This record gives sequence, C-alpha cells and structure tokens, in this order.
Amino acid sequence: MKVAIVGGGWAGISAAVTLADVGHELTVFEMAPQLGGRARSVAGAPDYDNGQHILIGAYGDSLALIRRLGVDPEQVLTRLPLALPYPGEPGLQLHPGPPLIAFARGVLAHRGWPLGARLGLLAAAGGWLARGFRCGEQLSVAELCAGLPAVVKRDLVEPLCVAALNTPAPQASARVFLRVLRDALFSGAGSADLLLPRRPLSALLAGPATAWLGERLRLGARVRQIEPGWRVDGEPFDAVVLACTSVEAARLTASIAPVWSATAQGLGFEPIITVYLHSPGSALPSPMLALREGADAPAQFVFDHGALGGAAGRFAFVVSGAAPWVARGGCGEAVLAQATRELHWATPPVIDKVLTEKRATFACTPGLARPPACVAPGLWAAGDYIDGPYPATLEGAVRAGRTAAQGVAAGGGRGANGAASGSPTNTPCAGQATLRQ
Ligand SMILES: Cc1cc2nc3c(=O)[nH]c(=O)nc-3n(C[C@H](O)[C@H](O)[C@H](O)COP(=O)(O)OP(=O)(O)OC[C@H]3O[C@@H](n4cnc5c(N)ncnc54)[C@H](O)[C@@H]3O)c2cc1C
Repeated sequence: MKVAIVGGGWAGISAAVTLADVGHELTVFEMAPQLGGRARSVAGAPDYDNGQHILIGAYGDSLALIRRLGVDPEQVLTRLPLALPYPGEPGLQLHPGPPLIAFARGVLAHRGWPLGARLGLLAAAGGWLARGFRCGEQLSVAELCAGLPAVVKRDLVEPLCVAALNTPAPQASARVFLRVLRDALFSGAGSADLLLPRRPLSALLAGPATAWLGERLRLGARVRQIEPGWRVDGEPFDAVVLACTSVEAARLTASIAPVWSATAQGLGFEPIITVYLHSPGSALPSPMLALREGADAPAQFVFDHGALGGAAGRFAFVVSGAAPWVARGGCGEAVLAQATRELHWATPPVIDKVLTEKRATFACTPGLARPPACVAPGLWAAGDYIDGPYPATLEGAVRAGRTAAQGVAAGGGRGANGAASGSPTNTPCAGQATLRQ
C-alpha cells in the first residue's frame, strides 16, 4: 500500500518504521524543518533540547525503535537505578533486584522519613498491588493518596505525579498514575531505572530517522486537507496515519469524522517550562536532583548536563504542570533564585535559556475521554494523546504509532473510503485496535 504519515514526531517515526518493515510504501509529511516533534533539539541551537526528557527502563518500545534505527541506547542514554535525591538528602533509592523487594527495601531504608511514614507507604502500595493497580475512573491522585503520610506525598507522590502525568496531583488521573507505577516500579527488573539522554534528543531518534527515511520524507510540508478516498492535499494514498498533534488531527478530520474530531478537540493541555542555567565549574552531587516546589520555587527537578555527557556547567531545571508560571511570568528569574538558594555553585549561575512549551502534553485528568486509534477504515491516528494506558510520554507516542501502523496493515487500503463519497463517517473501525492493555 501507499501510506501517508502526517507528522514526524516519535509517533510518526514509529508508524513509518512499522509500515516499512512489512513492505509498505510511505511518505512522511512534517510541517517543521526537522523531525522529532516535541522531543527534538532546538532549531539553530542543536546542542539544546526543547525540553529535558527522561526515559525509564519500562519504555521497551521506545528503546526498540531507537535500536531499530541503528542507535545503541546504551551509548546515548545513562542508565541509573531510580533515586530521588534532594539537595543534601539521599531521598528514596531503589537498588537493583526483583522489583517488589527493591521497592520495599528502598522504602524501609529511607532515612529521611519516620518509620510510620515508611510503613504507611508500604501498606498503601500493598493495597494497590492487591487491587491490580486499578481504581475508579473519576479518582484523582490526591484522592487516591489522601491517607498517605504528608512526607510521602511531598517527597514522592507529588513529584512523581507531576513528572509522569505533567498534571498536579489534585487534577491528575489516579487510574493512569497507578498504571505508571505498576509498569515502572512493579514490573520487570530495571523497569524503574532512569534513562537520561547523553546526547541531544535529535541524535537519539530524529537524526537517524531522517537519514533512514531519505526521499520518503517531506520536511516543511504542512498538510492542509485530507479527503476521503484518501487524498492528502490532493495526492492519492491507500491509507493515512495522522501522527500530528491532537489539534491538527481534529482540524483535518472535522468533516470526515466529526465525533472523533470533537473528542480530539476536547483535550486540554498543560505547559512545561525548561530553564537552562549556566555556571562554569559547578556540578551537582548527582546527575539529577529533585527539588521542593513552592510558591516561589517553580522547578521540581534539575539535571546536570556536564555529568550526562553534555556541556559542563549547564543545568536544566524542569517546571512541569507550569500553567501558574505561564500566567504569572518571571519563571526564569524565580528558578534562578530557587537554584541560588538551594544548591551550591562554584560560580554564580546565570540564565542561559528559558523554553516554554504551552501545549507540552494533554492534561491527564480523571475520566478523560481520549480518541481511539482508528478514525475511519483506512484512516488511523497516532500520538501520545490516543486512548491508552499511559500519560503523554514518548513510550505512549511510540506505541500509538505502532498500533496505527498495524491497524493500517491489517485493515487494507481505502476500503470504505474508496467510495470517495465525501460523506462523514463515524462508524467505529472493525477490529478497532486498542492501547488500553
Ligand atoms: C518540554 C517537554 C518535556 C517532556 N518530557 C518528557 C519526558 O521526560 N518523558 C517522556 O516520556 N515524555 C516527555 N514529554 C512528552 C513527549 O515529548 C511527547 O509525549 C512526545 O514527543 C509526543 O510525540 P508525538 O509524536 O505523539 O507528537 P509530536 O511530537 O507533537 O509530533 C507531532 C508532529 O506533527 C507535526 N505536524 C503537526 N501538524 C502537522 C500537519 N498538518 N502536517 C504535517 N506535520 C504536522 C508537528 O510539527 C510534529 O512534529 C515532554 C514533552 C515536552 C514538550
């Protein structure tokens, strides 16, 4: 089949590789001058990423995709056992070993928490485990964890929630949070490991994908219209994978599948601000530190790029769930003040860059309706926002790309769309693939 892929983020690249591997002919349309989408290096400053990204050991599909494009994940990512050290405090540290035992040992050994808090967390985790890490759709993370000791909420639940779901605990979906905990903390050995990029993001995937796609890639090509049949800006294809953002997918499908389009259009967004500080000669005690967020302390994490194979003296501060700071302004200065107060510096830090992604991820709220992967026979969507178990993550995007490509490959071309009647369709796709498993 001749398949069009609209969008060249991690979902689009994943769809392209999956389709090419089973022999389909493909064209990737990407409106930006480079591949990578939200996980890319900054155009004109390729040494900087548009936002600090973390992968974890459980990201099996993302690691397989990186490997498939000829990059050895061990070379481009630093693997560290999960640890959440705060300045001057070792924090929670998980040692290698069977996940349940590693978690219990790590919690019991936490020197900063009173024994009651440690036992309280273990009891709650035991309860989640016993219930298969499932809970009601409408429950928020704050409600799920209401009974936990305050230090556990402050030092573990709230930073993990905002890091993984990019949504503050009172507004975040407990169902998705539990699924992340299950896959990260309680799955195979190493699944909780942090994988921190040692190279700019584009070197992990977008660069190798650009070389691999060659003439099948059209950069700077914003798709304006899709017509049933399928025609992409007038050019005929047997099937289409929409791997663009939810906003663009909603626009392109508005007359083809109005219900699907409205669901995609209904998603809200959460921003992330990344503040790069520069301080020659400085280093953190570990490549990543957790920070305590507060009214005048925006950042939840800081990364030492010098310790991660990047520029020495460069530090990336991450402000997730950053809507209040986008509204208030002055985030860079507030991070600089927070950094100066909380960390030791060899030379006074200065602001290097402040990067704001206003639509960094969808807001992962309880009971959220996310659109399914199949829009109509022969028209599939891929992206981190597609209905599935994960919040907006690289792994969610890669899995969605693979699912959409498999749906295209299994469903054949054109099909119902071959009628080219132009009549709107909202018929659920036969054999609708789901990412919910
Ligand atoms: C600052 C920041 C930090 C993050 N940190 C993490 C992290 O630590 N770990 C993690 O797992 N995830 C993280 N994420 C989330 C992760 O980046 C996303 O989940 C993932 O990149 C989404 O990929 P995607 O392919 O679904 O969408 P996108 O990356 O948005 O790709 C969509 C692509 O479609 C293109 N496009 C849109 N419209 C059209 C059109 N009409 N025609 C052609 N092309 C079009 C866009 O230019 C874009 O390249 C972070 C995101 C941000 C912004």
